[in-house]
Amino acid sequence: MIAAGAGLGQTCWMTPYDDTNIFARILRGEIPCFKIHESAQVLSFMDIMPRAPGHCLVIPKAPARNLLDVSPEALQHVMEAARRIAIAAKTALKADGITLQQFSESAGGQEVFHLHVHILPRFEGQRLLSHPAPRGDMAVLAEQARAISAALAA
Ligand code: 5GP
Repeated sequence: MIAAGAGLGQTCWMTPYDDTNIFARILRGEIPCFKIHESAQVLSFMDIMPRAPGHCLVIPKAPARNLLDVSPEALQHVMEAARRIAIAAKTALKADGITLQQFSESAGGQEVFHLHVHILPRFEGQRLLSHPAPRGDMAVLAEQARAISAALAA
């Protein structure tokens, strides 16, 4: 266990970051993803088991297990990217709204232990699929990544 949350006057004991997680492997290029956008600090890509059409993720490049150990600087980059991707996804998918989600630790619903923010385009009257959702259609995910990326660049 390590102490996180330094500088806040509180100590949060948590499991250290493990770089064998699937998102660390995506960052290293060991496994593919449907990339939307990449900067020096963050990567955004499609969630492979979407709970809503256009479900995508934003992750920091700097190692962080979740919200409890991320640095303020890395979190700032992630949230600014999430804001921009949310606008682009809403435009590209012609969605009515957006839901952001972030889960920390197993008890909080986290399954992949590299910080990520879920961006879920929402449509009036449509509920989110429950977790785990079925694997998405690869051609649809590729097209959605292209459309969100184009909206981001517009
Ligand atoms: P968590 O519950 O940790 O917040 O969510 C992890 C998310 O990662 C889930 O929505 C799941 O569908 C997604 N996911 C799991 N494995 C992969 C993968 O190999 N590639 C991509 N793009 N997403 C994944």
